[in-house]
Amino acid sequence: MEESAVNLHDLTRGELRLLFARWGLATVHADTVWNRLYLGLATAISEQEMPGLPPRILARLAAGARLTMPRVVLATDSTDGFTRKYLLSLDDGRRIETVLMRYSGRVTACVSSQAGCAMGCVFCATGQTGFTRHLTAGEIVAQAVHVARALRTQAAGDAERSASDRRLRNIVLMGMVEPLHNYDAVVRAVDILRDPAGLALGAERITLSTVGVVPGILRLAQERRPLHLAISLHAATQEGRAALIPVARRWTLDELMSACRTYSESTGRRIFYEWTLIAGRNDSPEEARQLGRLLHGLPAQVNLIPLNPTVGYEGEPSRTEPVRRFQDVLRKEFDLPCTVRQRRGIDIAAGCGQLAATAT
Ligand code: SAH
Repeated sequence: MEESAVNLHDLTRGELRLLFARWGLATVHADTVWNRLYLGLATAISEQEMPGLPPRILARLAAGARLTMPRVVLATDSTDGFTRKYLLSLDDGRRIETVLMRYSGRVTACVSSQAGCAMGCVFCATGQTGFTRHLTAGEIVAQAVHVARALRTQAAGDAERSASDRRLRNIVLMGMVEPLHNYDAVVRAVDILRDPAGLALGAERITLSTVGVVPGILRLAQERRPLHLAISLHAATQEGRAALIPVARRWTLDELMSACRTYSESTGRRIFYEWTLIAGRNDSPEEARQLGRLLHGLPAQVNLIPLNPTVGYEGEPSRTEPVRRFQDVLRKEFDLPCTVRQRRGIDIAAGCGQLAATAT
């Protein structure tokens, strides 16, 4: 990369220090810049956004690096006030969506790592729109910075919010995206986000959800990346999965489960298995038993997601009773922890699988 083009959000703290060393500048200045980026949440290389830097250092930085934030095209709030969806425009005009979700006592950002998605899952709006391009690590990191900054600004005008509502606590890599299709940028972004001297979104705070890109799961296992892994299953047989998820033909259920076993063994971590519940399609107690048998002996937790509506798919979400029964089978017959994902932002199309980056 041309030196003048270095985007500061693309660099780990170590790399920022190296850059300063190459420029013949003291490490302490690199650390100040890092502090301004991730504690100050700076959005530009300027005296105002990066106070405390000697003018000559600031000038060197402005000459040799850039800091690019996405532009907010639209911010939409859900009627319950718990969710805000940002339609963001990147440097080249491509659009992505980032979602801020409030749960009791914690704030989570759902960030995108691609513009569009190439996986083509039939019930997902992002899959229905197709793939445009990968995001850089800096573009992923900038979404978290944007949300953290928005929280700070909101909190300043709202003394009633508790401290826990003001800080970005968790990141889910589940936006318009198949994160393991953009492995290098995603793991670089994770390294930057989890830096304890920065946003400090450590291992327990970042969840990566994948459709089942087997080589990526094996790489995560080998590199022992500190994050929570979530796997989209949605069906417990090869045929059932392939009908919903086209890439299941490329990486079969057997290969996927073997990669999951390897991941759990090498990291010692429990995996979350996601199951989008579609009425009459994959929500019967028998299906729950198939899933229970599939996960037998694995450190697992199941996360049920009643289908969210999208334009391109006609299925209906499972109703309350079948959801409860499905959950009961897994818990009581298989002793598997099983939660139902809280629905957030459905009225503003900010729920799982609803992100399509359109302004309507
Ligand atoms: N590509 C990643 C992230 C997708 S979004 C993956 O496949 O895991 C996170 C979850 O939402 C996935 O489990 C995905 O299958 C699910 N999902 C997609 N569309 C949905 C919809 N319309 N309703 C409910 N869940 C959906």
